[in-house]
Amino acid sequence: MKQSKFALKIKREIPKDADSKNAAFLVSGGYVNKLMAGVYSYLPLGYLVLKNLEEIIRQEMQAIGGQELLLPALAPKENWQQTGRWQDLDILYKFKVANGKEIALNPTHEEIITPLAKSMISSYKDLPLYLFQIQNKFRNEIRAKSGLLRGREFIMKDLYSFHLDDQDLDQYYDKVIGAYKKIFKRSGIGRETVLAFASGGSFSKYSHEFQTLAESGEDLIYLCPKCQVAVNREIIDEVKNCPNCNSNDLEEKKSIEVGNIFKLKTKYSQAFNLSITDRHGDQKTVVMGCYGIGLSRLLATIVEIIATEKKIVWPTEVAPFSVHLISINQDQISEEIYLKLTKQKIKVIFDDRDATPGEKFSDADFIGSPIRIIISTKSITAGGAEVTEVSSGRSKIVPLDKITGLDSLKN
Ligand SMILES: [Zn+2]
Repeated sequence: MKQSKFALKIKREIPKDADSKNAAFLVSGGYVNKLMAGVYSYLPLGYLVLKNLEEIIRQEMQAIGGQELLLPALAPKENWQQTGRWQDLDILYKFKVANGKEIALNPTHEEIITPLAKSMISSYKDLPLYLFQIQNKFRNEIRAKSGLLRGREFIMKDLYSFHLDDQDLDQYYDKVIGAYKKIFKRSGIGRETVLAFASGGSFSKYSHEFQTLAESGEDLIYLCPKCQVAVNREIIDEVKNCPNCNSNDLEEKKSIEVGNIFKLKTKYSQAFNLSITDRHGDQKTVVMGCYGIGLSRLLATIVEIIATEKKIVWPTEVAPFSVHLISINQDQISEEIYLKLTKQKIKVIFDDRDATPGEKFSDADFIGSPIRIIISTKSITAGGAEVTEVSSGRSKIVPLDKITGLDSLKN
C-alpha cells in the first residue's frame, strides 16, 4: 500500500472527548472514528488490525474443532421469553417493528443457537458439536465508556459447545482454556493475561474469565502471585484462598476482562428442550458450554497495554503492515524495493508522500509496523537501506539487493 493513496488521516492531537487511552490513541491514529458514545466505525487502518485478530481467533477455534457459522443480529421476542431473559436481562435492546411485533437486538446468542441446534443434533452420534461465529453484538448500556472497552455495539467471537455429558464438557472446557491462552499470546498480551475464577451462576460451581492486568482496568481481581491464577470481585467474599494452591496471600489488581467461558450445562438446552436419544435408547438433555472473546475489546486492551499516546509497536501477527518503508528523497530506489517486497506478499506500507522526515516518522509511530526500512541518501552512502526492528531499536544497513524477505530483515 502506498501511503499517498491510503485512506488514512492521522490527527496527531488527542481528541477532547477521549475518556481512555485506547480511545485517544485509536481516534487520533486514524484507526477508528467515534459516531456516538460506545459506537465506533473501523477505518481502513483499524479494520486491518481487527481482521488480523479475527484470523488468530478463527485459527485457534478451528484447531479445537470449531465450525464457523453466522447467526442473525435480530431475534423474535419469543426466543428471549423462553428463557426469561426478555424480562431479566436489562441490557437487552427491545423494539417494535413495523407490523407491531416486538424483537430484540442480540447481546449474546444462546437463545438463537440452542433452538437452531435442534435441527442439527438428532442423535448422540451428532455430538459433540462446536459452533462459533464472529459478529456484532448490542448492549443497551446506560452509559457507554472507556472507548472501545464498553461499547453499545461491539464485535464478539462466541463459541457454543454441545455434549452428551458433563465429563465431555469438562474435557472440552480445558481445551478452550488452552486455545484462549494461545490467542492472547499471539495477540501480544499473553504475559499480562491471567485466568480468573468467577461465579458459575446457579448451575455450575465456577465460570472463568481471562483478565488482563492493566492500571486502566475497571475490574478488580485477586491474584495468587505463585500460580498466576486469580479470583474475581464477585466471588472473593466466598472464595478467600487461591483455588489452585489454597494460599491466602492474594494481591488486589486492576484488570480488563478480555474473555469469559461458562459451563451452561443444561440451562438453555432444558429451556428449548434440546435432547437426544443415547446409545442405550434413553432420552438425555444435551449439555452445553459457551465461550466469548470481545474483538473490539481485545483491540482496545492491546492498545491499553502496549501503546503510548502517540506510538505503538504492534505484535507481528496483529500489525496492519509488517514493514514500513520510508523514502527520504530516494523515491525511485524506494519504489523498486516496494515492488520487490509486494511481490513477495510482504504486508508493506510505503511512505511515498511529499512530507518532511519528521512527519513521516511520527506517522510511522502511530501505524506501528514492527519493521521499519528507511532509504535515504545517508543510508545509500552507508551501503543500502537502514532496517530497524522497532521493538528492540536494533538497526543495521542492509544492501539493497539483500532485502528479499522478512527473515533477511530480522537478522
Ligand atoms: Zn495459588
